[in-house]
Amino acid sequence: MVALRGSGPLKLGGTMQVSVAGAESNVAIGLSRLGHRVRWAGAVGEDEAGALVLRTLRAEGVDVSGASADPEAPTGLILFEPRLPEVTRVHYYRAGSAGSRLRASAVERAFSAAPPRVLHLTGITPALGPDPLSAADRTLRLARQHGALVCLDVNFRSRLWTAERAAPVLREWVPSVDVLIASEDELALCLPPRGPDAEKPTDPAAALAAQAAPLLARGVGEVVVKRGAAGATAFTGDGSLHRPARPVRAVDAVGAGDAFVAGYLSALLDGAGLAERLERAVTTGAFAVASPGDWEGAPTRPELGLLGAPPGTVVR
Ligand code: ADP
Repeated sequence: MVALRGSGPLKLGGTMQVSVAGAESNVAIGLSRLGHRVRWAGAVGEDEAGALVLRTLRAEGVDVSGASADPEAPTGLILFEPRLPEVTRVHYYRAGSAGSRLRASAVERAFSAAPPRVLHLTGITPALGPDPLSAADRTLRLARQHGALVCLDVNFRSRLWTAERAAPVLREWVPSVDVLIASEDELALCLPPRGPDAEKPTDPAAALAAQAAPLLARGVGEVVVKRGAAGATAFTGDGSLHRPARPVRAVDAVGAGDAFVAGYLSALLDGAGLAERLERAVTTGAFAVASPGDWEGAPTRPELGLLGAPPGTVVR
């Protein structure tokens, strides 16, 4: 999407900054900055906003040869309205957009060049409409066929679909997912419905473990739970591991989850173990909250070490 970012209440007008937004493009840029080869498959309109999206991705070193430009639909639009220091409202204009008409043939083209080692998919794509849902289903099947590792970030967006519509799709996907990334409140969407008598443990860690267990039993290799300023906890067949968040001065929480995913997948692509994957993820997540914009503050590999430098540090 093209993104317009205001500086106060939208209805008062004023100037807006033009940029690019989208969970998958944020992850793609995050990974590219860390030195990985990334291809983005998505749809923009054949318009100037679409040109901005593709130009930005190209400038960030992301391969857009699998992207499509739809001559009959506009590029999706998102408005960011910082309403309070801690509260940003977003307004979507994406019904009928090119992204909401993403076709399976487009993702097939993205796969045909060279199948990826990892496919990253979010729960936003299937929420956009029947065509993107089919395209996402097709992508999952292609990834399986090519032996790619599948990472799914649930990213439930209540403005795009209801929990009742999301849950059956996500539950059907679970057996095809290797790395499932979710916030605490999104895990239930991926699980079989709970009976009325089911008891939830009162201890938060035990409650998370109880939700992760059935996902691991259904074949997910790693369940990674993003917990905001509390950090993240990963569950695997061998147990669980928690990493606290890196302390930073938070200026913009939007994009933290995507940056976290980029860090996690970067370490995974490097062949690093679980502890290092989580460590890089909380580091890139912290960069995102400490920087304005969704992806602009994403670190390069040499910059990873900048976090935690004492106030007033000047790097010469
Ligand atoms: P999402 O953006 O998907 O809601 P989170 O808010 O859980 O995801 O953030 C993802 C990750 O970013 C967290 O697991 C954490 O590592 C990091 N993070 C989020 N908020 C903060 C914060 N205030 N300070 C430091 N790190 C944070």
